[in-house]
Amino acid sequence: MARIFRRSILWLVPVVVIPLAALLVIQYRFLRTLESKTVSAQRSWLRDSAEHVAEDIDQYYRGAALRALSLERDCLCQNSVLADHFRGKPVDGARTFFVVHFDGPHAYYSYFSPDGIAKTLPQDEEQAVKLATVTWHVAHKLKRAIPHPPLSVDERDDRNRIIMRPVVDDSEHVLGVAGIIFDEVSTRAAMLAIGTRSIATHYKSDAASLRLLIDDHLVRSRDFRSQPLSFVFTNWRLGVKDLCASPEELGALSFKNNMMLGGGVMIVLFGAIGLAIQAASRQMKLSQMKSDFVSNVSHELRTPLASIRVFGEYMRLGRVTSDDKVREYGEYIEAESRRLTQLINNILDFSKIESAEKKYKMAETDVVELAHDTTCAFAMPLREKGFQVAFTAPATQLPPLTIDGDAIAQVLMNLLDNAVKFSNGNKSVDVIVSGDAESVRIAVHDRGVGIPADEQKKIFEKFYRVSSGLVHDVKGSGLGLAIVSHVVKAHGGQVEVASALGEGSTFTIVLPTEAA
Ligand code: ADP
Repeated sequence: MARIFRRSILWLVPVVVIPLAALLVIQYRFLRTLESKTVSAQRSWLRDSAEHVAEDIDQYYRGAALRALSLERDCLCQNSVLADHFRGKPVDGARTFFVVHFDGPHAYYSYFSPDGIAKTLPQDEEQAVKLATVTWHVAHKLKRAIPHPPLSVDERDDRNRIIMRPVVDDSEHVLGVAGIIFDEVSTRAAMLAIGTRSIATHYKSDAASLRLLIDDHLVRSRDFRSQPLSFVFTNWRLGVKDLCASPEELGALSFKNNMMLGGGVMIVLFGAIGLAIQAASRQMKLSQMKSDFVSNVSHELRTPLASIRVFGEYMRLGRVTSDDKVREYGEYIEAESRRLTQLINNILDFSKIESAEKKYKMAETDVVELAHDTTCAFAMPLREKGFQVAFTAPATQLPPLTIDGDAIAQVLMNLLDNAVKFSNGNKSVDVIVSGDAESVRIAVHDRGVGIPADEQKKIFEKFYRVSSGLVHDVKGSGLGLAIVSHVVKAHGGQVEVASALGEGSTFTIVLPTEAA
């Protein structure tokens, strides 16, 4: 059985360990692929975010510029109406609104601040306006029709970027131009504010971790995914970065977390397999012990029964005539019956202990007398076989104990039985009772085979029998010491064992007194 089991553990290597190792390798490769996919997914997510935000900014400027630059042709010369109009149609980042009214070869310029106040312009700004509007002046002079006046952008002067729109009459001829000159600093701030709002609308909970930047050098930054603006400030790029982690860090983090998770699952799995093997091995051992127990007990039952039957038959057939022989056979029958009774008592007691039904009838008892009577009853039939069981009473009177007398007597019988069974030809056994105010000690000392040190604890387990050396040949149920230990513990005491291989063993029952 053990060999099969050991073989079955070896089978675990190809059946469990190799597939698990293969799974681990597959998982590692899969997670590496996942890591690179995560990096590119995060990159494209950031790029998409940049695209969205840049689109929203462009849309804002198209819409706001269209609203601000859609003028009625009648109001081209009415400065107060123009001032009201520009005040009511603000465009974020605008520095100056301007209107140019063409009249043949002449052009008349009006300038307004964002809050609608007429203003004069520094020379460079004025130059930029003239340069930007000159093509519309040409169109006016040539009376070219402009069916749907478009928004156009002039970015030739970096510091004075212009969005403008022609104003046309009913026959779609250019009458003038309205325009906006942008201030770089306030436009950048305005664009960032628009972008932040856009991110908050599109990405809700993720928005807090995203950072925006608008710059003309962003292409060189590795951290930001960027997108150029397409309407105005077209040399600027809008960049988005995840503050929590860069795509590479995120990929590495997801790889690490997944690996740790996978590793954790593997450890739990191996632990569970280990525990299952341990439990299976314990079960195998127990079942082995149980089958040994059945064969040992049947032997233990059959041997005394056979003797009793043979001696009984002799006596029935009248083959025994002398009184001495009749007494001798009678003693045999009595001794074998006692052995049988003890074995059956042990089995019954064990089943009661196992099902927690064992009850103890506690009564005040003279332990010395109990130990003496039990020893004598046990020793008498053994005397014929040459066994000497010496009883030593304590030097002083011991206090009576409240114990279950029958149970303690059975414990002593079990210890004496073992002392005789494992005597290995040394037929002298001692029972020594001693004690003090705290405890009473009953020691059974033999000079038999002894017990190996590493087995001295295990022998108190149910069905456990030392399987090596001489002990191997002695039959038994493996229940005696389990019952001894249980009964003594139920009395609040303990069993001590002192033994050396080949020199004998001393089992001592220590029972506490009431004073203790
Ligand atoms: P059993 O005696 O029926 O085998 P026990 O539970 O009484 O079962 O004892 C368990 C084992 O402890 C024995 O099989 C034996 O190996 C060992 N043992 C117990 N008492 C002694 C002893 N006095 N000397 C040597 N070995 C002992």
